[in-house]
Formats: sequence, C-alpha cells, structure tokens
Amino acid sequence: MRKIFKDIKKILQAGDTFLITTHINPDGDGIGSAFAMDYLLKMLGKKTVIVCQDSVPHDFAFFGKEWIQYKEGIEIPSFHYVVVLDAPSLQRIGTVGKLIANTSNIINIDHHISNQSFGKWNIVDPHASSCSEILYTLFQEMNVSITQEVASFLYVAISTDTGSFRYQNITPMTHTIVAELIRTGVDVSALNEQLYSQVPVGKVKLFALLMNKVQLTCDGTIAWSVLTNEELAATGAQLSDADGFVNVLRDIEKVKIAFMVSNVQNPSVIKASLRSKGKYDVNTLAGSFNGGGHAKAAGCTIKGTVDEVVKKIIHKAKEQVVQE
Ligand code: 5GP
Ligand code: MN
Repeated sequence: MRKIFKDIKKILQAGDTFLITTHINPDGDGIGSAFAMDYLLKMLGKKTVIVCQDSVPHDFAFFGKEWIQYKEGIEIPSFHYVVVLDAPSLQRIGTVGKLIANTSNIINIDHHISNQSFGKWNIVDPHASSCSEILYTLFQEMNVSITQEVASFLYVAISTDTGSFRYQNITPMTHTIVAELIRTGVDVSALNEQLYSQVPVGKVKLFALLMNKVQLTCDGTIAWSVLTNEELAATGAQLSDADGFVNVLRDIEKVKIAFMVSNVQNPSVIKASLRSKGKYDVNTLAGSFNGGGHAKAAGCTIKGTVDEVVKKIIHKAKEQVVQE
C-alpha cells in the first residue's frame, strides 16, 4: 500500500491539469472526497476541475460549493490526468465516462470491494471505511495540512459512509483519523445539524409515502418499497431525497435484506438500492444483476417493469435468507 501512495505522490506532483470526478447520484463520501481532492491539488499549485454527471444534491449545499454537472457538448477546460473517487467502475461515473474516454491517465481511489482497478494507478483499499479515509492518508503523504474546511469534507464523508459510525467498515484507524479531524477545530455538532437536522419537508412527506408502502415477505425477513415517477412528482421531492429510506427498511426488526426500487430515472430500467444486516451479503446479490457495492450496502440497475424487478430481487434474496 505504501508504494502506491508514493507512486501517486509523484504523479500528482508532476501533473499540471486534473479532472476530478465521482459516481452518479453522489453521496457524502463522493462529494467530500471530490472537494478534499480539489483542495489538495490546488495546494500543490495544480489546475483542477470537478465534473460529475449529477449536481451536488441539496443535502450537501451547506458546503457552499458546486461542481460542473456534465452533459455532452459542455465545454470543459483541458486536463491531462483524471482522478476518479469512490467509484468501483467507469460505468459508475455515467456521462463523464465519455468525456475521459481518450485519456488513460486515470488515478482510481476507492474503497469498494467490487472495484475493477480500471485506472493506470489504483489505490483501492476495501478495508477503508470510505474513500475519504484513503484521502486523509494521501494528505499526510503529500504533507498538506488539513484545514477546518477540509476536515469538514472528510468528516462528512466518513460519517455518512459509516452510517454515523455504526457500520462494520469502522476500524480503530477510522476513529483515529476522525479524532485528528476534530482536532482541527471543526464544529462537528454544527456539521451534524446541517447533515441531519435540515430535512426538507418534501423529503419527510416522501418518507411518509414510502413508509406506507413497505412490504414484507419470507416471514418478515425481506422488506421492500417502491418509488414511482408520479409519486415523486406529487411530493415535490427530488430523487436524492429518497436516499436513506432503504436504511429505514433495513432497520425493521427481523429484516435481513431490504431494498428500494424506483423507475424515476428510466421507466424501463429500474434502479435498486439494497441493504442487509448480520451475515447477509447484498454485494453478491447486486452482483448477480451486474451491480455491486459493499456487503451490506449495494445497488444495481435491472431492465424490466417494477413488478418484474421486485420478483427477481426477492427470488435472489430468498436464496440467502431461506437457507438456514
Ligand atoms: P445506494 O443504494 O446508496 O445507491 O448505493 C449503495 C452502494 O452500492 C454504494 O456504495 C454504491 O456505490 C453502490 N452502488 C449503487 N448502485 C450501484 C450500481 O448500479 N452498480 C454498482 N457497481 N454499484 C452500485
Ligand atoms: Mn464511499
């Protein structure tokens, strides 16, 4: 691991222009990592541009930062290197994949177990709680000190990817890093209020709607809910407002595998978000539909109607929960 950090250090020092990107439907880790990487490169005197298929969701507007939302045809400043953060495959960066198709100078920094090592340089550590945990080490390696602003990016990333420090991906190192972040003087309580206590009313209404549609099968061990385009429009919420609802399903007593499906982005290609607890593995489950993620949080897209997709996922989930 140390050698790859040294190699990346040389590349970051040698390059002049960098494009930074992260996965579609960006989460706290993707967003925090992108802003932290941008800061790191700027401190090294580099020209940077952050580009992502999707805009920064309003949950993270409190950072007061934006990036370029990429649509084909948009002019982007030229770049020689690409840094891909928190994405297990190039498919996961959506339209930005086309933008970078002609460069092989890709630095892939990630913590997904399903990472395809698609970069010329890859720092992939499935034992890291988050991509930002790896970036913390990179800051140290590069001798760039962490300001309160950078600490807020990294803290939010680590906090959100660990379910507020509850998940299995937590290690002593995670807490050591977070202790160092707090030492910068960053106001963790204010950050947590921004993160968890500024919920738009549309999101609460959307959760209420989804709560009312919760379904259970297999003696209550599999839970799911469905979000349709029409329902989303009716609540006035955004698609990113549904993020996190699948965790509510997972937290139901007795539930082993939970999932949420939606046809919002594409009526014939259903997006599924999967969660599990205990020994159950949704990375493998999502993998059987060409998706992936982590053992207890994964996703995939499946062609078909909502009903067909729900049936397919339940069928696969049953293979795990009915075994004992
Ligand atoms: P979420 O359910 O929050 O969208 O995603 C949970 C986890 O699964 C994240 O780590 C995310 O990167 C991964 N993930 C979500 N959707 C997909 C997908 O379509 N393909 C792959 N490979 N991973 C996904
Ligand atoms: Mn992550």
